[in-house]
Amino acid sequence: MEIKVLRNVLEANDAIAAENRRLLRGKGIHTLNLIASPGAGKTTLLERTIEALKDHLRMGVIEGDIAGSADAERIGRHGVPVVQINTGGDCHLNASMVRSALESLPLDGIELLFVENVGNLVCPAGFDIGEDAKVVILSVAEGDDKPQKYPLIFERASAMVLNKIDLLGMVDFDLDRARSAARATHPDLPIFELSARSGQGMEGWLDWIRSKVRRHENS
Ligand code: MG
Ligand code: ZN
Repeated sequence: MEIKVLRNVLEANDAIAAENRRLLRGKGIHTLNLIASPGAGKTTLLERTIEALKDHLRMGVIEGDIAGSADAERIGRHGVPVVQINTGGDCHLNASMVRSALESLPLDGIELLFVENVGNLVCPAGFDIGEDAKVVILSVAEGDDKPQKYPLIFERASAMVLNKIDLLGMVDFDLDRARSAARATHPDLPIFELSARSGQGMEGWLDWIRSKVRRHENS
């Protein structure tokens, strides 16, 4: 019985996610769903990414948090349209929350949409919101065993960002162990090792985004 209820929730979510995807693709918007634990540096990565790409790409952002609008205010300072979703307790975004947020964004002026999911590596992996790709962000201030403990998100992600590499040497984080744990789950997962704070290593990540947007234009 419980299994059936859960399945119905996910089926309803998937139907709305499919509508979101149709709407976004119809407008030529490429959508990335950013998923990480709290404190991995999602918002800082977004700020740095927006600054690097804003002369060439028109971007928009949906910020998901349980409460507050601090992250949306940070993003708004970079001159891109942003909508904050407060889930009011839910630990993930679902497709219908994203659908409501899309109504408040100037979709005709956006080519690349970032969705910063609620800080959590578990259920955001299971909820399709209509994105083109999920990106998992891990920081070296966390455990290098995260890919082993939360395999689903590493399996479903199209790319992994390993953030805060400027802190390597100050923390007990084994880079090889993290890489091999991620690739044990997802053998050809692209991994971008960078520091959003210092800017080190950003170029590979930016190139990956550019290639995704270009491929989207051609499809
Ligand atoms: Mg944030
Ligand atoms: Zn959740």
